[in-house]
Amino acid sequence: MSRYIATRAMRGANALVTEAELMLNKALAEKGPDTKVAFPNTAYYMPTILGMTGVQVETLSQLKPILEHARGMLHPIPSTSKWTPYLGETLDSGMATLFAAETIESIRFVYGQQPEPMSGFKLAGGTSFTSPENGVKADEVDALTGHLNGPIDDIRLRSWGIQLVDGRMPGFAAIVGCAKSNEVAVKIVRELQRRNILCFLSGNVNGRSIIHQLMEEGVELGYDTYTVPFGTDTISAIYALGFATRSALTFGGLKGGQAREILLYNKDRVFAFVLALGEVDDLKYAAAAGAINYGFPVIADTIIPEILPTGVTTYEHVVSMPFEQIEGKDDLEKAERLVQKCIEVRGVKVKISSVDVPVPYGSAFEGEVVRKADLRVEFGGKHSRCFEYLQMAKLEEVVDGKIEVIGPDFSNVPAQGSMDVGIVATVAGRQMQKDFEPVLERQIHYFVNGASGIQHVGQRDIAWIRVSNAAADKGFNLEHIGKILHARFHEDFGAIVDKISVTIYTDPKLMNEWLEKARASYDYRNKRLADLTDNKVDEFYSCTLCQSFAPNHVCVVSPQRLGLCGAYNWLDCKASFSINPTGPNQPIRLGKQMDPVKGYWEGTNDYAKIGSHGVVNEVAMYSIMENPMTACGCFECIVMLIPEANGVMVLSREDTSMTPAGMTFSTLAGIAGGGLQTPGVMGVGKFYLISPKFISAEGGFKRVVWMSSVLKETMAEEFKAVAEREGDPELLDKIADERNATTVDELLAWLEAHNHPAMAMDPMF
Ligand code: SF4
Ligand code: ZN
Repeated sequence: MSRYIATRAMRGANALVTEAELMLNKALAEKGPDTKVAFPNTAYYMPTILGMTGVQVETLSQLKPILEHARGMLHPIPSTSKWTPYLGETLDSGMATLFAAETIESIRFVYGQQPEPMSGFKLAGGTSFTSPENGVKADEVDALTGHLNGPIDDIRLRSWGIQLVDGRMPGFAAIVGCAKSNEVAVKIVRELQRRNILCFLSGNVNGRSIIHQLMEEGVELGYDTYTVPFGTDTISAIYALGFATRSALTFGGLKGGQAREILLYNKDRVFAFVLALGEVDDLKYAAAAGAINYGFPVIADTIIPEILPTGVTTYEHVVSMPFEQIEGKDDLEKAERLVQKCIEVRGVKVKISSVDVPVPYGSAFEGEVVRKADLRVEFGGKHSRCFEYLQMAKLEEVVDGKIEVIGPDFSNVPAQGSMDVGIVATVAGRQMQKDFEPVLERQIHYFVNGASGIQHVGQRDIAWIRVSNAAADKGFNLEHIGKILHARFHEDFGAIVDKISVTIYTDPKLMNEWLEKARASYDYRNKRLADLTDNKVDEFYSCTLCQSFAPNHVCVVSPQRLGLCGAYNWLDCKASFSINPTGPNQPIRLGKQMDPVKGYWEGTNDYAKIGSHGVVNEVAMYSIMENPMTACGCFECIVMLIPEANGVMVLSREDTSMTPAGMTFSTLAGIAGGGLQTPGVMGVGKFYLISPKFISAEGGFKRVVWMSSVLKETMAEEFKAVAEREGDPELLDKIADERNATTVDELLAWLEAHNHPAMAMDPMF
């Protein structure tokens, strides 16, 4: 154990704990001990503190004992001359650093420096909250506003966590500091993205952060591109460890306070490492010591003493790989080697998709945007047509891997021009069913998007694909779209896809012929979906995917009620069951129907008991007032009774404003979630709102008296159809929203003035 590192880590830890104490005392004096502290959109309190101590911090005063605990973990700073090396003390100071960092971040939120997810995160630069070397100059704060993320929300945690658990995503890199040059910064991130490794960005060196570097180079940052800018100070790196802690709580089935288990879970299962770019100061040493607790090694691109013996981490603890000394013909090659070294040190299992295309390929590129200025050619959009169609055929009719382009390629299309393209994939498999066609067809979007420099939007006959200059220069052509589909369908859907061939039509005559065929098929599917009502099937499906963090919650998914996260409808669940018969989606045989109005079947009730481990005894599929379906935490909307109005309000997750219920989304989410039945409150997927079975036991959509305006706007067409179905074409105009009613009195006045039908309906209870 290097005594040098220990000394500096302890110094950093001491300084940060002191700073946290000062901040806390100030906040206690100014705001009061009962002031609430919380991170937005997460149910894990202060996650590192929760995980390590079991304390659910909700108020400022609860932070006091946490910091006392942190203070107690600090050992006297060793005099460098006579001191016996002992890793435990460094680890302790690392943990104290994490508690202090999380405390500081939570206090920043108290002072109103909350980020909306992906927007508006104001830094504490220029205020007393950060010591000067950690802050960013005030003028730089403006440039970053809107780009810093703060903590990762629970929905994102769940979707990434599942990928981390099943191996699609190998791990994450916590990158702290500033790269040698912008070029190197971009290269490092690209190399990580290519391997589907999440990049968490934080820290700075002399005020410059890798976040600045990437933004200057036009690299798109955000959840969609697997690059999350937490903040430009070292303290914000705490969110990476908060994420790691929450992963263990969510997917490892662990509870707050199981510190040892949580750390071991991360060491064994979460492939993460810290990449320290540029000079390492005391605070970075201290934070690094915190990460080592989790088994995450630290790789630095500067000269620092190494800690090589293994023990807490799987391999080395701290590795120094001074950038200048890396072998390589230029900086880019050195950057590539640096990333390789990180992967080696942590032992990250990287599965690079076997897609044979001339551009980098991986899910990290799914969110990439191809801007007009970078555009080589586009298919679809304003000036041309692009459609995609996946059809099923008999096994003997499909030649697996056959890719054909029929018609001219895009070499003669002028720069930034467009052309018509039809993509037809033909799939065969022993387990394949006609009903899976749309489920698979929807994957084309994700698969094509995985290619760097290719952007895919839309589906069916409104697909829109953009190819960037960079991708075209590397030789990307139409045939590669076929290659991508062939590789990915085998890789991800091998259980139902035995063979796949792809034909790409640019020949106008054939393209139009196939477009007609595709449209006939889309129509057929629409009718099938419309006909696919709950009373036409013998089984619904369960979804228990969320039980890892809402252990007693089950979604019962029926043709007319999709899962509350909006991501799984009945057909998806059916396909998922075929792909993975022991997976989270199991058929529920309906058996005898006991109540067609409220929606009780023998089968669903029996399943509810088993699935909820006895917590729920009955579930009414169509009622909010009696045995409503439970919710985990990922609902798209909350539906809640407003007794005075004899109706319900529908609140969108995107709506942060005050509601007539006197609570905002985040407060209500706590009431709606957790896997318990709460009559009058339900979490739902937004497409359930337009189903004829939406709270049909209580009178259906006419009960909606208030709805977030964002829903009204984004689903205007759908709601119009619902209003007509309900025999009240003006219904939508009678529903209040946050712009005209945020209290019950305002709501009642609005309903009165607009003659809302709910006023004349039977009492809801
Ligand atoms: Fe979770 Fe329900 Fe969505 Fe399944 S359908 S992932 S259980 S919210
Ligand atoms: Zn969920």
